[in-house]
Amino acid sequence: MQENQEKFIEKVKEKNKNKKLKYSILTMGCQLNENDSEKIAGMLTKMGYSEIDDYKKADLVVFNTCCVRENAEERLFGKLGEIKKIKESKNLILAIGGCMMQEKNMLEKIKKSYPFVNVIFGTHTMQNLPEDIYNAIVKNEKVKDVIDIDGEIYEGLPIKRNSKYRASVTIMYGCNNFCSYCIVPYVRGRERSRKPERILEEVEELAKEGYKEITLLGQNVNSYKGNEKIKNFAELLNAVCKIEGIERVNFISPHPKDFTDDVINAIANNSKISRIIHLPLQSGNTKVLNEMNRKYTKEQYLNLAEKIKNKVEGVVLSTDIIVGFPGETDEEFEDTLDVVKKVNFEQIFMFIYSKREGTVAAKREDQVPEEIKHKRFEKLKELYESRVDENNEKYINTIQKLLIEDKSKNNDKMFEGRTQTNKVVIFEPNDTNEIGDIVSVKITEAHKWYLKGEII
Ligand code: SF4
Repeated sequence: MQENQEKFIEKVKEKNKNKKLKYSILTMGCQLNENDSEKIAGMLTKMGYSEIDDYKKADLVVFNTCCVRENAEERLFGKLGEIKKIKESKNLILAIGGCMMQEKNMLEKIKKSYPFVNVIFGTHTMQNLPEDIYNAIVKNEKVKDVIDIDGEIYEGLPIKRNSKYRASVTIMYGCNNFCSYCIVPYVRGRERSRKPERILEEVEELAKEGYKEITLLGQNVNSYKGNEKIKNFAELLNAVCKIEGIERVNFISPHPKDFTDDVINAIANNSKISRIIHLPLQSGNTKVLNEMNRKYTKEQYLNLAEKIKNKVEGVVLSTDIIVGFPGETDEEFEDTLDVVKKVNFEQIFMFIYSKREGTVAAKREDQVPEEIKHKRFEKLKELYESRVDENNEKYINTIQKLLIEDKSKNNDKMFEGRTQTNKVVIFEPNDTNEIGDIVSVKITEAHKWYLKGEII
């Protein structure tokens, strides 16, 4: 397979010789999609294309789609309309891939209504992109390369990363959980874990290249299954933390039902692991949680949050919440607010429930009216925002370790970095500070969406 990929990379490269062609990738969706896009960029770079931000000026455009939220479809159709006009005036190759292409209805719609798309590829066939592009540009074929079965894990894809200091490493693909609102298990297939040796090799390589921060990615990272040497997610975390040069380790997303004591201990015992833990709640009501197929109750969630806070010093929690799940009543929604008050999350990713065709929840007739969903969303947002100031003020006079990420967007004399709890901190650097360094800063001011600090 790898030989075939390399053969077609060379063929396209030969075809593109001296043409100075440009590519642009538009990524929609989660960090897993971002990581896939880095691999697509790696393949395209090897094929002789160079990157350009403005896709209107590119010779090859890739849309890496997501189907988790309804507005992703609208966004894709909007972009397709724009690209159609550009395609009428120049020779441009358009490839669409990602989760949305694994949905039969969407695939049919794209084929029927957007015949100008040159290549359609799925989540299990991304590695074939060089061959698909070759067939599109040389044989002028319309390529459809989507399979339903869970793809094997394909190692060794070239990769062009977006940052020099922070890198994502996918540890597993797919999901077995079938939460009743979620399309992911249908489009990404069943859980498949990468071999721990391959993951550790990748992280070691990144450490050698100077990367400081690693984010381990998967739909459900804490159900990772290794082998006899590194059996599970807790052991993988411990092994990654031992790699010299890696200073920070994050992971996303864990599932509360699989958050074992081993994982909590691994976090508590490794100061390299992020002190913000993402613990997706979705709803605070046990009946709704049951209908969502989340496999925990309100009380179990609260106990877990308490246990993590007690065992891991300095930890804060972030979460995902869906408002307006079918059948959710005002009283049931109040339970969500109750959990938010009790846990005091530092970050909440809030979503208004939207139907995903093909899921169990989409078939329900007791959908919550849009107006009520929006009212609940506003109420949740208000509650969350009312806590932000107090949560930020707790940082004043504390010493925080930051990874310097960039110059401040509003003042290029200042640098910005993130704490181990993912807070943005702006500070004036000294002469030796450079982007990518880890530094200690004393927090002096708290603002709504950032902190200010002084280097010490
Ligand atoms: S755990 Fe649930 S929400 Fe997360 S990807 Fe799997 S099915 Fe979707």
